[in-house]
Amino acid sequence: MSNITIRNVKAILTAPNGINLVAVKVETNEPELYGLGCATFTQRCFAVKVAIEEYLRPLLIGRSVDNIEDIWQLSMSNSYWRNDAILNNAISGVDEALWDIKGKLANMPVHDLLGGKCREAADVYRHADGKSPDELVDSIKRYLDEGIRNIRCQMGAYGGMMGNNTKQVIQSPAGALVGSYYDPKQYMRNTLRMFEHVRKEIGFDVELLHDIHERLAPSDAIRFCHDLDEFKLFFIEDALPPEQVEWFSELRNASNSPIAMGELFTHPLEWKRLIAERLIDFIRVHVSMIGGISPAKKLASFAEAYGVRTALHGPGDITPVGVAAHLAIDLSIPNFGIQEFAGFSEIEKEIFPGCPELINGYLYPNDRPGLGIELNEELAARFPCEYKENLWTHARLPDGTAVRP
Ligand code: MG
Repeated sequence: MSNITIRNVKAILTAPNGINLVAVKVETNEPELYGLGCATFTQRCFAVKVAIEEYLRPLLIGRSVDNIEDIWQLSMSNSYWRNDAILNNAISGVDEALWDIKGKLANMPVHDLLGGKCREAADVYRHADGKSPDELVDSIKRYLDEGIRNIRCQMGAYGGMMGNNTKQVIQSPAGALVGSYYDPKQYMRNTLRMFEHVRKEIGFDVELLHDIHERLAPSDAIRFCHDLDEFKLFFIEDALPPEQVEWFSELRNASNSPIAMGELFTHPLEWKRLIAERLIDFIRVHVSMIGGISPAKKLASFAEAYGVRTALHGPGDITPVGVAAHLAIDLSIPNFGIQEFAGFSEIEKEIFPGCPELINGYLYPNDRPGLGIELNEELAARFPCEYKENLWTHARLPDGTAVRP
């Protein structure tokens, strides 16, 4: 027992790349000792701040920093209703900060606390995109030159023209609402042509991935995965939305491509059956969206028992503290699969000194105690978060029907 208690819990919001990020700082009764965690739910960052400061702070002030699991369980039960994205992120921010503090107290990096390294660094995949197959091949070649071995290939993001009002480009009915329109059939045809071209240009020695982003009707997704088999992808990501997971057994029967699923998951009920029935090959949750390092470590062990590997969600809307938390898990579990990595901007590295480093396609931790990341609060404050409407979430089919983005 350390006799160290929580003095304050605060949310620190910053948007250095124009993307809203939420970090949590847990301060202790030892003036120099604090922990940082990631609580980034970019689309609802201000709601997460309220959950942290109005609800978790009064619950946690004065409690010992020692008992991370007890604090996690208490925080999860305290709202009675649980496992939504806002509350999970708030809990994650505290959970990761407490692991950071424990690491600092033990003078060990968090991956050591979790059992030590199974590997020195995490193999990553990066995102290549282009408006045409040729543009995409150029983007892939740039990554290959940097030593990246695994590359996600998209053409116009997820089915084309993300984030723009595209109703004029796609033939939609008169009076159709503004939105980010996409045509599923066209997307499938274009993507198959794209992979044909890419494999012809770069061969089969490079690992390629693809993200369907849950955008297809189940029967279309199943046939599309079957059609993608010939390109021998490392995995196909999010082929179906969480609301349609029952279709995964049909998909398994139709396609032999490895399946990765889960970036939208927030509740254990969403992954239990998929893993236990071996309907997916990679579980790719976003650690802060499920409540932090504590539940993610348990999920990884559960998946290990069924031969399912991890591919933790690593988009641009995550703090470097969150990336360090992902990395602590990646390094310390035997069933690590791959890590998605969006990179850090120079200003992000200044705000969060200690960012993990990418060398030849491997992401390395800095091996400092805890999660190893600091936060320059003054600099962070110069990039305030603001609410912006995300047009890409206004996804619509050609006839104007609103669908999941
Ligand atoms: Mg994805």
